[in-house]
Amino acid sequence: MSAKPDYYDVLGVDRTAGPDEIRKAYRDLARRHHPDVSREPDATERFQLINEAYAVLRDDEKRATYDRFGHDGPGSPFGAGFDDFGGIGDVFDAFFGGGRRSRPGAAQPGTDARVQVELEFLESVFGVETDVEYQRLEPCGTCAGNGAAPGTRPSTCRPCRGTGQVQRAQRSIFGQFVNVTTCDTCGGAGQVVESKCPTCTGVGLERVSVNRTVRVPAGLQPGTELRLTGEGNHGPRGGSPGDLYIGIGVKPHPVLERDGDNILSNVVINVAEAALGASLEVETADGLKSVKIPPGIQAGTPIPLRGKGAPRLRGSGRGDHFLFVHVATPTKLNRKQRDLLEQLRETLPGGSDTGGRSFAEKIRAAFR
Ligand SMILES: [Zn+2]
Ligand SMILES: [Zn+2]
Repeated sequence: MSAKPDYYDVLGVDRTAGPDEIRKAYRDLARRHHPDVSREPDATERFQLINEAYAVLRDDEKRATYDRFGHDGPGSPFGAGFDDFGGIGDVFDAFFGGGRRSRPGAAQPGTDARVQVELEFLESVFGVETDVEYQRLEPCGTCAGNGAAPGTRPSTCRPCRGTGQVQRAQRSIFGQFVNVTTCDTCGGAGQVVESKCPTCTGVGLERVSVNRTVRVPAGLQPGTELRLTGEGNHGPRGGSPGDLYIGIGVKPHPVLERDGDNILSNVVINVAEAALGASLEVETADGLKSVKIPPGIQAGTPIPLRGKGAPRLRGSGRGDHFLFVHVATPTKLNRKQRDLLEQLRETLPGGSDTGGRSFAEKIRAAFR
């Protein structure tokens, strides 16, 4: 067990402190306790501890492990002193705003891949198992990912002796520092490829077509993305792959339209059907369905078909189907139809305007 002080206490920050707060606390402490500046007898140990705490708390992954397991976490390198974390180079990062470096020689994680699929309307409503073809980077088949031409191997990089890092002396307000940077010759890999693989030109990755069967759940909203973990691009030098994001597009349906969990459609009836009611066959997600239009329906009124919408993604049941009724005014009439409508006109109340004008204006209009 370790009697090492808590890293949050070392930096004097809260357990909930954000990256900026941690970085600021570190800068202040590192300035104050740097062995070249501080007169305290234990300045060196203290400075090391500050660096060690910062190296852990600035790194999301290390910080999460530390939060869970403390100093004695599984495979924890925390006891090992700050040199393991890039050491003095981190001091420069903190003081002079250096960027976040990937660990020299380490495999780099791959990036995410994206692909778009277009589903039929009903597939998007009820879900579907579909094949998705996309391109991604995988370790090169010719060189097995090491970038070297067949029959050759990568050799150890000479300037950095395979460590991927070079040390450079640099002057600062505190005196001389040794700044550790990524080796330019090998880019931090620690190895160089003298004769490059012809397939991947030494990168170690090649673009390949991949097929995956994807289960699109019922009730997914168009425009949603599905994620397949680890199915994205592989990274250089055996880096773990990123994720695959599948954008879900939906082809328009000739009749049906989606509105969240509901489905909408329109139906056109004639004047007589509007007045007398009708029985119609309409298209729904479940096929043709016969629907009764009640007598006297007003144009624009939606008729609900309960439970005929899209399945709800979370929870049970389905949305509804709303049938919007439109009334078509006849434009071409034969003699008989005209006679019937004229008879009808004489017996029905005439049109009137119902809104907009004030009562006084209506009175005035009536006496005009
Ligand atoms: Zn290759
Ligand atoms: Zn090198």
